[in-house]
Amino acid sequence: MGVINLPKLIFLGVLASWAVAEWCYNEKSCEPDTWSRLGFCGGNRQSPLDINESAVVRNSSLGSFQFTGYDNATLLLSIKNLGHTVEVALDDGVSISGGGLNTEYSAIAFHFHWGNGTSSPGSEHRLSGKQFPMEMHIVHTINKLNLSESRKNSTGIAVLAFFINVAENTSFSSNLSTLSNLLQQVSTAGLLVPLNATISINSLLGQVDRTSYYRYLGSLTTPTCDEAVIWTVFKNPILVPASVINTFPEQLYFNGSDELQMLANNFRPLQKIGSRLVHSSMSATPTAIVSTTKHTTVSITNHTPSSIHTKQILIPSTVLAIMCFLYTEASLTC
Ligand SMILES: [Zn+2]
Repeated sequence: MGVINLPKLIFLGVLASWAVAEWCYNEKSCEPDTWSRLGFCGGNRQSPLDINESAVVRNSSLGSFQFTGYDNATLLLSIKNLGHTVEVALDDGVSISGGGLNTEYSAIAFHFHWGNGTSSPGSEHRLSGKQFPMEMHIVHTINKLNLSESRKNSTGIAVLAFFINVAENTSFSSNLSTLSNLLQQVSTAGLLVPLNATISINSLLGQVDRTSYYRYLGSLTTPTCDEAVIWTVFKNPILVPASVINTFPEQLYFNGSDELQMLANNFRPLQKIGSRLVHSSMSATPTAIVSTTKHTTVSITNHTPSSIHTKQILIPSTVLAIMCFLYTEASLTC
């Protein structure tokens, strides 16, 4: 019987913890269904969500964003295959403020999630059950912290999420095809190519309306799934040709196995919304405001645990008068 010495034990311990920490999308032993044992992935503030558009809460504080550096092509440094996605690293000088955020957040990188080209969708979030072909995440951190520091703060990370869809005609305006043309140069994990000031973030986003968005508090969508993210999910997708969407699984491969496997379906399944509310920057649809009776706007404090508090409802003045009569002890402002 052999004797296991101390260095050997330490080595085995490190090896064991490394094995436990491993995660993936494409193998039974480490696919998303197994992630609940990792970090915060089993928590109750997880992402992504299916955003039920009929259940969102209008929030008038969700105004326009101010984008800094989004038009500057020199700030996109390189594109790299991380083995589970492709990531574009950003230089200092890209940031966002406004948009209902309490402070400025600095962008550090963006990456993508996808399915299997145009044949199988792969966005992480969904809109009223609809899954889009792809989703882009621009990751920003508070106070210029790195990701490992910012993830300790419950609002330390602000991610802007953009759906990507096939343009039904040739009226697409995104420059994503320039980026997708480089994918064959980063086909396997670890490969990286410089971008040489060819693309700005604005040129990738194209004509997407950046004032129509949903907001909720969630998590990173990869282990350790830290519950540190203020999510902004834009309603309207970036529109690109089908060939751009097909290029991602065609040109890229996962890491970690002897045989190269097509990098596809790198999205986390939907998580439970629980007691969370999703807020909307958009007004209710016109059909929600009915009758010719004069309407009065009433603000009601919505006591949720989130930092987003007020919503507005429209009530006919006659109904309001009855409400005021019945609830004179209540805190409604009549
Ligand atoms: Zn992501």
